[in-house]
Amino acid sequence: MKNYEKELPGGYTLNYHINAKDKKTGLVMNLWAFAIMLVVGAVGAIPLFVDKTLDFTLSTPVLLISYVVFMLSMVVYIVLHELVHGAAYKLLTREKLTFGMSWSCAFCGVPNIYVYRRAAIIALVAPLITFTLVLVPVSVLMYFAHPVYYILSLVLLGMHLGGCVGDGYMTYLFLRVFKSKTTLVRDTGPEQYIYTKEVSDSE
Ligand SMILES: [Zn+2]
Repeated sequence: MKNYEKELPGGYTLNYHINAKDKKTGLVMNLWAFAIMLVVGAVGAIPLFVDKTLDFTLSTPVLLISYVVFMLSMVVYIVLHELVHGAAYKLLTREKLTFGMSWSCAFCGVPNIYVYRRAAIIALVAPLITFTLVLVPVSVLMYFAHPVYYILSLVLLGMHLGGCVGDGYMTYLFLRVFKSKTTLVRDTGPEQYIYTKEVSDSE
């Protein structure tokens, strides 16, 4: 099965458009991301309250270094997240990618082609799966290393899961709304255009 089309084939209509740069969309997306972060933080904090033996003390230099490492990890994470989207798109299409950052999100797209639903889902969930598999074990390790390291890794995990809200929403649309395998998406990065063949595929 083909992963993409260079031109939009005949019989397709634009059924859905979303723009993460749009004020309301960007705001709602970030509020959801924040809510997910809070839930991850709340759940992850439970062992900190249960385990009374934990010692949170850390010398000031170590605390500062931990904070710097944490800030750097956040930046590295954002870059890697987009690179994993890009790697998936590249493997599936070999086409030109676009990367960028807007006020509401970082993004990666493949703007010049129309990607089939299956390939789009793979590119969407690739960072979610990759970094969940990395950051959950890291958080567990950090818990046993030092509770402060654990808190910082938990924030990173929360940022990751919250930051995947846009990817999650698009995946949801493909799994629940645009279920036909002929569905095509043009992903410019911040904007997604979904094209379908059947009229009944909409709404
Ligand atoms: Zn993403």
